[in-house]
Amino acid sequence: MTSTRVTEPLLQVRNLVKHFPVRGSRFRRSVVRAVDGVSFHIRRGETFGLVGESGCGKTTTGRVILRLIPATGGHVRFAGQDVFELRGRALATWRRQAQIIFQDPYGSLNPRLTVGASIAEGLVVHGLGTRRERETRVHETLTAVGLRPEYARRYPHEFSGGQRQRIGIARALILQPQLIICDEPVSALDVSVQAQVLNLLRDLQAAHGLTYLFIAHNLAVVRYIADRIGVMYLGKLVETAPGDELYRQPRHPYTQALLSAIPQPRPGQRQERIVLGGDVPSPLNPPTGCPFHPRCAHLMDVCKQVMPPTRELGPGHTVACHLYEDETC
Ligand code: SF4
Repeated sequence: MTSTRVTEPLLQVRNLVKHFPVRGSRFRRSVVRAVDGVSFHIRRGETFGLVGESGCGKTTTGRVILRLIPATGGHVRFAGQDVFELRGRALATWRRQAQIIFQDPYGSLNPRLTVGASIAEGLVVHGLGTRRERETRVHETLTAVGLRPEYARRYPHEFSGGQRQRIGIARALILQPQLIICDEPVSALDVSVQAQVLNLLRDLQAAHGLTYLFIAHNLAVVRYIADRIGVMYLGKLVETAPGDELYRQPRHPYTQALLSAIPQPRPGQRQERIVLGGDVPSPLNPPTGCPFHPRCAHLMDVCKQVMPPTRELGPGHTVACHLYEDETC
């Protein structure tokens, strides 16, 4: 889906780094390089999909952007402001403007609170509205996510997985954010319910002008919702492109392998599956040169020694791979 309703960048992420120190390691200075120099931007009203295998750093990227965990390095700018420099009221405003939807809606809801109290929590924390006004906002938000206002009096265990994720969306929506980080929001749901929740997210985006960072390991899901997509491997962004183009013409060998694993919807349409050898290397001890080189079918000598720089191969299409050394737009 290529968006035409988007113009200016709302979020800019530059060279974001998050390293976790490893306690008890034999090597005193050991760190897990969870996010290692990630840069991308998201325009207002756009959905940017961040994909990759489990442990590639995509969830950590989202949490560092939201300041749920501190960054090791890099910059995040939101509507022109340096997010890591915000303090006091400006920080409180940012915390309202940027919300998150979690993968596990049940785990993110307090079982002892009614759904209404859970949804209203953000309003209470930020001191917004009277009790009556908050109640009205909860009812309106429940309606907006396709649930009945009277559900506010019920508890999380009384709902299905899909309904609980709608409640998770309502918790994010009630603060009227500009940016929502959707962290694997449909991964825990049945396939039949996934499409309903994805459609709800798209409808809410159109109605409220929302901007999404959509994190997922399932490329078919990301294809459905994202305008542009970034592919992460071992803490690095290896390819970024408009959604349609990435699926039509993936350039990085890792992206090609990921896409080859998606089942084809039309009978008779066959695609040769690229099977990756070996496991994802440990971010505690990443390979030299290109991080993908131990698993790459196109391995060259240079790949083991030199980290490939990110090149732009076409409008908005970047790739970090030595195969394209002579190719730039
Ligand atoms: Fe493969 Fe080399 Fe490209 Fe890395 S830089 S993806 S090892 S061809």
